[in-house]
Amino acid sequence: MKQEHYDYLIVGSGLSGATMARLLMDAGKSVLVIEKRGHVGGNIYTQDVSGIPVHVYGPHIFHTDDERAWKFFNDYADVYPFVNSPLAYYKGNYYHMPFNMNTFHELWGVSTAEEAKAKIAEEVAKENIGEPRNLEEQALSMVGRSIYETLIKGYTEKQWGRHATELPASIIKRLPLRFEYNNNYFNDRFQGMPRGGFTPWIENLLSGAEVILNVDYLTDKAKWDAIADEIIYTGRLDEYFGFKLGHLEWRSLRFEVEELKQKDYQSNPVVNYTDREPAYTRITEHKHFDPELDDLPTTVITKEYPDAFEEGKVPYYTINDEKNAKLAEDYKALAAQDAKVHFLGRLANYRYFDMDDTLMAAFALAEKLLK
Ligand SMILES: Cc1cc2nc3c(=O)[nH]c(=O)nc-3n(C[C@H](O)[C@H](O)[C@H](O)COP(=O)(O)OP(=O)(O)OC[C@H]3O[C@@H](n4cnc5c(N)ncnc54)[C@H](O)[C@@H]3O)c2cc1C
Repeated sequence: MKQEHYDYLIVGSGLSGATMARLLMDAGKSVLVIEKRGHVGGNIYTQDVSGIPVHVYGPHIFHTDDERAWKFFNDYADVYPFVNSPLAYYKGNYYHMPFNMNTFHELWGVSTAEEAKAKIAEEVAKENIGEPRNLEEQALSMVGRSIYETLIKGYTEKQWGRHATELPASIIKRLPLRFEYNNNYFNDRFQGMPRGGFTPWIENLLSGAEVILNVDYLTDKAKWDAIADEIIYTGRLDEYFGFKLGHLEWRSLRFEVEELKQKDYQSNPVVNYTDREPAYTRITEHKHFDPELDDLPTTVITKEYPDAFEEGKVPYYTINDEKNAKLAEDYKALAAQDAKVHFLGRLANYRYFDMDDTLMAAFALAEKLLK
């Protein structure tokens, strides 16, 4: 360590930790960042493979409606315009996403919004579902059988590892249908990608900070606690408390990465596989996030498989049911009792946060601490 004592110890160098480091350093505070992995960036980390930034923990696209988050992203990253337009593959055919007029044309040959709405209404009426009892009935009552079976059923069952009839209806609250020819996946005003991947962004945020890798805060907590006035903790909520109230449940992912000696594999950054087979839910072809990389001689693809979570695997998605929500609340009540430790980010809040939500939570905490 360069200093004996710091204003803040930041546990975790993901987007939450790196943003806090930047904001606190800019306010003249001393920070020490410790990270248990061998690299910075948490789940937005990208690794260079033959000139291609590979999204190691799943594909990430920055999008937001928040002007401050957009400015902050642009201030520390070399941002280029990007519009996310994933495709879906089902039984030999490709379909556009999100569900829009292109998709409806591909499914039924309809050309106008009126025809598409009539087709969906006809399919929904045919199902004749009153109060949906499970996810399958919920989806059928919203979009009808063609969209459900082609684009939702297999993908969702793979994602959760259960039949759609065994999943709660509440998983699908909305299924946005867009009645125009518009393949832009996000509705936000701002969308872009950082040139060179997300790691340079994180490195810029951490520039000037002391960062120690391969250190797990919880294995030597008392030592680390003594080193700073206050602690920003971005690790898992239940783990912080030694799981004393029980384990919060997660869904994990497994990735298979291949570098191929060809220029192009699927001509699009992301293709979702919506049938039950193959077992992966999507293939990411990383070079297509940046048109400047088109001429590189090789390409890197990642097949993404949903996976059961167990200790030692990366926790990706929270399980949004009553049991886990209650347990998370109980842990948060404990967390609120310790004024020296601030719980920040997706793991410490047991919540899915997009990158812009992550930034906004960090802005709010920094404002509170620096007041
Ligand atoms: C598959 C997937 C795709 C996504 N795609 C998008 C997208 O397209 N757009 C978007 O806006 N958002 C996306 N997100 C969300 C995005 O990943 C999060 O917003 C972001 O990673 C949150 O950062 P964080 O710092 O809170 O958490 P993390 O990235 O998990 O960082 C936490 C860090 O803390 C470290 N840590 C934990 N415990 C300890 C400990 N005890 N000691 C030391 N270090 C510790 C971890 O190793 C990790 O590096 C996606 C999420 C997933 C799961």
